[in-house]
Amino acid sequence: MVDNFELETLALRAGTHRSQFNEHSEALYLTSSFVFDSAAQAAARFSGIEPGNVYSRFTNPTVTAFEERLAALEGAETCVATASGMSAILSCVMGLLSAGDHIIASRSLFGATVSLFNNVLKRFGIETTYVSATDVIAWQAAVKTNTKLLFVETPSNPLTEISDIAALALVAKKAGAWLAVDNCFCSPVLQRPLDLGADLVIHSATKYLDGQGRVLGGAILGKRELVMEGGIFSFLRTAGPTLSAFNAWIILKGMETLKIRMDAHSVNALEIANWLEKQPDVTRVYYPGLLSHPQYSLAKQQQKTGGGIVTFEVKGGKEAAWRLVDSTRMISITANLGDTKSTLTHPASTTHSRISQEERDLAGITDGLLRIAVGLEAITDIKADLEKGLKKL
Ligand SMILES: *Cc1c(COP(=O)(O)O)cnc(C)c1O
Repeated sequence: MVDNFELETLALRAGTHRSQFNEHSEALYLTSSFVFDSAAQAAARFSGIEPGNVYSRFTNPTVTAFEERLAALEGAETCVATASGMSAILSCVMGLLSAGDHIIASRSLFGATVSLFNNVLKRFGIETTYVSATDVIAWQAAVKTNTKLLFVETPSNPLTEISDIAALALVAKKAGAWLAVDNCFCSPVLQRPLDLGADLVIHSATKYLDGQGRVLGGAILGKRELVMEGGIFSFLRTAGPTLSAFNAWIILKGMETLKIRMDAHSVNALEIANWLEKQPDVTRVYYPGLLSHPQYSLAKQQQKTGGGIVTFEVKGGKEAAWRLVDSTRMISITANLGDTKSTLTHPASTTHSRISQEERDLAGITDGLLRIAVGLEAITDIKADLEKGLKKL
C-alpha cells in the first residue's frame, strides 16, 4: 500500500496490518513468543523457511509495523529496530565489521558515539580515524586498505555542521566501504540520506520519531542484502539489543505527527536563531537555516529546513552559560532533544563531558556553548525565557 503516497500519508498508514479484530489503531502485541500449529511449523519458522513470528527478540508484529513505517519514510528497502540509537550504532558495527577493520568518522559526533568507538570498539581491534565533518578531501585522505565504514552525523551535534552526503557516498564507494548517516537531527521529513547515496541510515528514535520524550528506540535502514543478509539482523537476533513492542508502539504513534511537528519545530527554531543573532551577549549562532551558517547553501540543497536545533555561544564561558541555564523558568534543563517541549543543554559539561578537553577543543565545543532543541511552545514564551538569562550576562 505504500507505493504512491506522500510522506505525511505514509507516516500514518505504512506498516498497518490489522488483526482478525480489525482494530483501527495499531495493536500492541505484548508477548515474548508465538505459538506454532505443529512441530513441523515450529521447525519451518525457526529455520526461516516459513515467514512469521517466532520470538520477540527478533520478530514482533508491533515492532515490524514500526520498521515498515520508518522504511517507507526513509525510502529504504528494509529497517531493523533497536533498543536505542546507541544500540543501532553498535549493531551496525558488530554486524558488518571485524577486528582489523577501520572506520572513518566525523570529528563532530554525538558524545556516546565517540565513547563507543574509542573505548569499546578499540578493545576489539577496530580503529577509528576522525576527520572534519565538512572537509571531503580529508575523508578521502583518511581512506586505508582496511577502511570498511564511513560514519557521519549531519547536521552534527551540537555545532550543526553539514556534511555533504552525496560527496561522502562517492568517497565510500571508491574505497569499497559503506557510508552510514545518523539522521537523528533531520528525520526523514527533512532529509533522506539513502536518496543521496548513503548505504545505511541510523536513527535514535528516542528523539523526533517519538517526539514526546517518552521512550528509547533506534533503527538501522538500508538495502536488504546489507541489513538482513549482511550481518546486522543476525547480530540483533543473536545478541538481543532489540526494540521492545511497547516502545515500538509508542514511537509508531509518535511518527503519525512527525511531518507537522518537524515543520513547526523548524519555524520556531529559525525564529529563535534569527533572534539570538541579534543579542549582544551571544557571540555566535549555529543554525543551518541562517545565511551566516558556513554551509547554508549545502544545507538548503540537502535538507528541507534548518531543523529544530539551535546552538549558540555566550560571552563569559562556562559561568555565563550556566547562569543562563539556571535563569530559565519554563525551558527544561535536560539533555534530550527532539521533544515537543524545548530543552536546553550545556554540551561541554553534559553530553560531551566524557570526551577529553582536547577532543572537545578539536570539535569546537567551547565552555560558553549552549544547545537549545526548540520545542512547540509559543515563540514569545521561549524568547522571554531565554531573555531572562541573557539579561543577567
Ligand atoms: C541521542 C542520539 C544518539 C543516541 O541515541 P539513544 O537513543 O539515546 O541511544 C545518537 N546520535 C545522535 C545524533 C543523538 O542525538
